[in-house]
Amino acid sequence: MLKRLRKAPPRRLELACRARSCGTMQRLLRMLVIAAFCSISDMTDPPHAESCQTPEVEIRFSSGETPPSAVQFTRQLREAIQAVCEWWGPTYDGPFHVLVNDTFRESMALVPAWSGRIGYMLFPTSMVTSGHVTTVHEVAHVFAPNANRFLAEGLAVYAQDHLKGPPAFPNFGANLNILARSYADRANLAVLDAAATPKPPRLMSTTLDAREVYIVAGSFVRFLIETYGLPEFRELYAMTPLVPGQRRPGKLDRWEKVYGLTMDELSSRWRESLDLK
Ligand SMILES: [Zn+2]
Repeated sequence: MLKRLRKAPPRRLELACRARSCGTMQRLLRMLVIAAFCSISDMTDPPHAESCQTPEVEIRFSSGETPPSAVQFTRQLREAIQAVCEWWGPTYDGPFHVLVNDTFRESMALVPAWSGRIGYMLFPTSMVTSGHVTTVHEVAHVFAPNANRFLAEGLAVYAQDHLKGPPAFPNFGANLNILARSYADRANLAVLDAAATPKPPRLMSTTLDAREVYIVAGSFVRFLIETYGLPEFRELYAMTPLVPGQRRPGKLDRWEKVYGLTMDELSSRWRESLDLK
């Protein structure tokens, strides 16, 4: 119904003419309500909703048996693929190969992409069983992999939060910016920005642990997108495309080219935005 109304602007015109000819206040009001309804649906519809196809998803459980949580996990995964595609755009239309295993300690999709296996996602069994699965995070790595690990993780953490994926690592549904207040003073963003995929986040900083790196990255990407917009972020992101097997995190001067501000200036603005006490 929403889509039919949105796709048919001439119908609005037709209603307007009829309202004028009969002159009833009722019709005029109805027309205004429909027009308002149409413009609200235009504003809230995801930008790429109609370009996203039903993906091919293969899920394998290493135990050989399908656990009771499999139904929920399959649903969460399909919702995540749909949400990321509609938000970021249909930048990936290949199959998804998902492996759930007892031996994995964390979920993964960016490192497989760097290894040339884009679309492969690994999840620990315990995470799938708990329901706190980083589905949106890992799907974001498939649709938007990046050679700069700080940006890739920041976008994935932000996407899980922004697209309302299941509460999961690293913030489990808590406000990223409030969490980041505790680490912002210890975070050197220029150092984090120098990390090339597939460098592990636990090795990206000497002042933050891995979880703190993820939170800082997510909060900073949120600041960039919500303050300066998604198109500017895409421009920056496109400067460090992932090429399997190569390590190219990008140069520090690219920040000024996109935002007109140095990394130091952006770091200061991000800290100010967190309202540190
Ligand atoms: Zn990640």
